[in-house]
Amino acid sequence: MKRVLLFLFCLALGGMAQAEEALKISVFSTVLAEMAERIGGEEAKVTSHIPVGADPHEFEPKPSDLKAVSGANLIFLSAKHLEGYVGKLREATGGKVRVVEVGAALPSLWTRPEAGNKAEDPHWWHSIDNVQRAVRVVREALIEARPEKRMIFVQNAEVYTAELGTLKSWARTKMAELPRDKRKLVTSHDALQYLAIDYGFTIYPVSGLSASEQPSSKAVSDLLKVIREQKVKAVFAEDTANPKVLQQITAETGAVLGGQLWVDGLGTGEAATYSGMFRHNLSTIVDALK
Ligand SMILES: [Zn+2]
Repeated sequence: MKRVLLFLFCLALGGMAQAEEALKISVFSTVLAEMAERIGGEEAKVTSHIPVGADPHEFEPKPSDLKAVSGANLIFLSAKHLEGYVGKLREATGGKVRVVEVGAALPSLWTRPEAGNKAEDPHWWHSIDNVQRAVRVVREALIEARPEKRMIFVQNAEVYTAELGTLKSWARTKMAELPRDKRKLVTSHDALQYLAIDYGFTIYPVSGLSASEQPSSKAVSDLLKVIREQKVKAVFAEDTANPKVLQQITAETGAVLGGQLWVDGLGTGEAATYSGMFRHNLSTIVDALK
């Protein structure tokens, strides 16, 4: 009888292990939400707290966000000081949920002095190399949380990394369409430094790091001069920026508006995935400048 009971007990334990709930992951970046979904697969239930198209620089967690993080197993952040509310998240979890600051493990670029105080540029996902590094950080965090699912996470990460490799090859081919002396980027929010470094662009930002900053009239007149002198063919609006200054530039220099870029996270339509967003941005830039 004892043996039968022990057998039943073991069966019950086995059943419980199988019915183990998916990891609850709270993510404060649309780019990282996709990554957590792709690497976690069916083992992860991802809540993406920042809506598509929302300005992550202005985001503040609502009570519903704080409630969700308090019940999560893991929290993923872009880091590099993008989430000024990280203290609120830690407070909501009572320090009991692991907060993974993914961007903290990646190399940093710094905002240029004219953008105000020197600070880490948080827009690391515009470098595909950084995104591949981030995949390893996310994969390791998932393995640490569920070591028994290691093989699944490793395989999913390999598939995702290979897709990023394909994207890198595509980007190299696309960039070959644009001569070096035309790689001049005028944008309304200095968010594309990581992309600029990878592909040899010089950036002429219209305003500082935040889309809500208004540039001075001297900054605007300096920029108009640069656009005329450098014969820049196009300037770019962004998902979270006010296009007023860009309109003044196009009116006074003859440069055209090159199209909308998704600089602060994933977008909609063809830009709804990381690869789609990156292809949209680089195609828009190259096609307008070449
Ligand atoms: Zn930004």
